[in-house]
Amino acid sequence: MDNKAMFGLSYGLYVLTAKEGTFHNGCIINTAIQVTTTPNRLSITVNKANKTHDMIKATGLFNLSMLTEEAPFSVFQNFGFKSGKNEDKITGFQDKALAANGLYYVTGCTNGYLSCKVVQEIDLGTHTMFIADVTDAEVLSKAPSLTYAYYHKNVKPKPQAAPAGKTVWVCRICGYVYEGEVLPPDFVCPICKHGAQDFEKVVR
Ligand code: FE
Repeated sequence: MDNKAMFGLSYGLYVLTAKEGTFHNGCIINTAIQVTTTPNRLSITVNKANKTHDMIKATGLFNLSMLTEEAPFSVFQNFGFKSGKNEDKITGFQDKALAANGLYYVTGCTNGYLSCKVVQEIDLGTHTMFIADVTDAEVLSKAPSLTYAYYHKNVKPKPQAAPAGKTVWVCRICGYVYEGEVLPPDFVCPICKHGAQDFEKVVR
């Protein structure tokens, strides 16, 4: 089986935000899909390791901001490569506004946002799938939506060239370079926290 075939699946990229008590938080997901039109309902799938996951499970509410091709890498560094468990990602982030449901959404590099209320949860082991009604929505710009493929080609920094004759392993998610012939199977990327399966071997 060639797992690279999975890269042929097309995804969008979104900032998923939640609020629990007075604490606001958010993360990046690529797993939002409209599932029915009547009612207007979508599914998101969120890693249980994410603080945002626990906040949505506790409150049943989230906002989904649709990123555009104008999104800078700093948005991914802020929402994707840090954990809300030990850092406040929201206070220092400027491009945001409060929606009617009291949760933030991302402005500037998004073409719209959806406010959602969870109606069903499905336990998928490492992740939970939340099925949710869209309770509010706003269009913010006409900029094209960011796809995962566009992110990899144009937004993510290009990996540094490996020195001649050396083997390096490049993180497909964030571009981090690990130098060495063998990547330990339990290796975790220090930047984006993805595992060894998301590294690609590059030989120069
Ligand atoms: Fe990484």
